[in-house]
Amino acid sequence: MFCRTCPDDFGDRLLQALAVDHQVLGAQQGSDGVCRIAPLHRWGDLSRENLPLLPAKKVVLPPQETLWTLEGEDYHPPETPGPLALLGVFSCDLFALDYLDRAFAEDSLYRSRRQPLFLVGTPCLPGEGCFCPTSSAPPPFDLFVDHNRVWAGSTRGRELLEVFGGVLGTAEEAEPPKPSQEERPFPPAASLARLHRESAADPLWFETARRCLSCGACSAVCPTCACFDVVDTVAGGKVHRRRQWDNCFFTSHALVAGGHNFRPTRKERLRFRFEHKFLGFGPLRGVVSCVGCGRCGRNCPVDIDISKVLQALVEREGL
Ligand code: SF4
Ligand code: SF4
Repeated sequence: MFCRTCPDDFGDRLLQALAVDHQVLGAQQGSDGVCRIAPLHRWGDLSRENLPLLPAKKVVLPPQETLWTLEGEDYHPPETPGPLALLGVFSCDLFALDYLDRAFAEDSLYRSRRQPLFLVGTPCLPGEGCFCPTSSAPPPFDLFVDHNRVWAGSTRGRELLEVFGGVLGTAEEAEPPKPSQEERPFPPAASLARLHRESAADPLWFETARRCLSCGACSAVCPTCACFDVVDTVAGGKVHRRRQWDNCFFTSHALVAGGHNFRPTRKERLRFRFEHKFLGFGPLRGVVSCVGCGRCGRNCPVDIDISKVLQALVEREGL
């Protein structure tokens, strides 16, 4: 991959160039101590240390969105969002978007948000509880900016760099910086499947489930948890069909017509989350969707960390 050198104020120049035809967003530390994705006006306001509490999935898959509205016999499709640019995205969240792209490849509303989304990656600092699944490939991005170097990872990224002309140095061969946190290799998929199967009666599941509050915080903040529910409402002579985030820790998640619940206990719901994150789901069976951001462990009120549960199970089951 090629990079080019750039001046100290390149971040702000880039922000201004993108702001011409994008709404520019970036993760920023709030005065309330919460880091969140919000409109960005200065490159220097980007959070360098903390990931946003809610990841980039909230941009491409909002917590609630209208799928269509029916007014009498008139059908109204959802409003098409304008182009967005998301700056300062760390590698784990870039990999998470790549996973969502695959999970929602056939979803036109998702694609209408994702395709125009311009992604600018930046290096991360090791955060509490985060780890990086081993990956030889760099994460997907349009541009990646590290101090005085910039990489283009897409055609539109390369085209945007052309705008800066002589401000940039000549291209040289170099890889973007690797994530700074320790890499943690996951056991191979076949071992994970066996671990899931053979650990069903392991007391660790019961002990962990006894502590779990079923609050769903871990799933809400996870950058690759994307289960949703579809809800119809009637108001003011209009029918609205909306989709909204659902949560596999809620008892209602696996409740079906007739009152049967496929996962009525917390232990079953914990194991389901493990299965979804590390074994994959549907057409993405076999794809690990945990990107190691550590949000679930940091935001769990009773300190349950899915990766530590996995590690403990691996040791106990002798894999
Ligand atoms: S499971 Fe936890 S560590 Fe893995 S991606 Fe989701 S929030 Fe991040
Ligand atoms: S955040 Fe913790 S307590 Fe809440 S559902 Fe997840 S594992 Fe359970």
